[in-house]
Amino acid sequence: MLKLSHESRSGLSKMALFAATRSLSSDSRRLAGKIALITGAASGIGKTTAAEFIRNGAKVIIADVQREQGEQTAGELGPDATFFHCDVTHEPSVSSAVDFAVSKHGRLDIAHHNAGIGGSASSDILHLEMSDFDAVLRVNVRGVAAGIKHAARVMARRRSGSILCTASVSGVTGGMAPLAYTASKFAVVGMVKSAAAELGGFGIRVNCVSPFAIPTPFVMEGMSEIYPGLDAGRIREIVHGAGVLKGADCEEIDIARAAVFLASDDAKYISGLNLVVDGGFTSFKRLSFPSPSEQPK
Ligand code: NAD
Repeated sequence: MLKLSHESRSGLSKMALFAATRSLSSDSRRLAGKIALITGAASGIGKTTAAEFIRNGAKVIIADVQREQGEQTAGELGPDATFFHCDVTHEPSVSSAVDFAVSKHGRLDIAHHNAGIGGSASSDILHLEMSDFDAVLRVNVRGVAAGIKHAARVMARRRSGSILCTASVSGVTGGMAPLAYTASKFAVVGMVKSAAAELGGFGIRVNCVSPFAIPTPFVMEGMSEIYPGLDAGRIREIVHGAGVLKGADCEEIDIARAAVFLASDDAKYISGLNLVVDGGFTSFKRLSFPSPSEQPK
């Protein structure tokens, strides 16, 4: 949970991003005709997911607390994207975003609760600021709970829908991030499982994607807090270098593609899943045995 500078924001140009949304043939559009709402879609993972949803045929509401950035993103993504100002810590704002999607497009098929913050990157348990703890949980837990509640409210009437959340590898294992962020992401996984159990009877699937570290704005800002003065390129190298899968870096598009799969009818019988996209990072811990020349006596 690292925060990032504005310059380091993911950077498809306006033209390239718009062209990407138009380049698929209709039969490869896995979300054709679907209406989606994505929170935290002004930047980072949410923005790339919005582009990938549109490329697959969806219309997307970009719901974010950053008005200027959100409007700019919607402009870059073209006519199938609409910005709606939404602060997920404020339940009426979340409720309004859902109602806006329904009033604009007639229904809501996909709700992706993705907005999140990292909190203080350098705080450890001995110096835990309870105000920081509350701020992180307000966005990452309370905001997601409100999002699931209001998406379910409109989806239950139609007895179908796909709800997604963005959790994290920090919601699978300890020691990857400060306590508040870790607690918040374990809570997201728990809420997904609880909601999947409750909403299956309404034909609503609920899943989450858990990304490995990606140098998005909040990760870059957090890393800059930990390594003051280090340039953005070096920080990106450190973030990517932390992975275990050689020959590939974890990128926003990897999370976006996982989200398209879970949101689509290809995943029609998948609910309650935490799809961890981490190149195997949380699956194993490599043992460091002594080399043959240093055999233990
Ligand atoms: P980001 O900073 O690029 O995007 C986060 C977005 O959430 C921003 O657009 C921000 O304006 C929005 N947001 C923050 N508070 C909000 C609020 N109160 N209401 C509405 N919108 C709000 O970072 P990102 O990496 O794209 O983060 C997206 C999600 O991915 C987060 O939930 C994050 O915890 C999760 N995640 C990120 C990583 C990573 O390494 N980047 C890893 C695991 C999980």
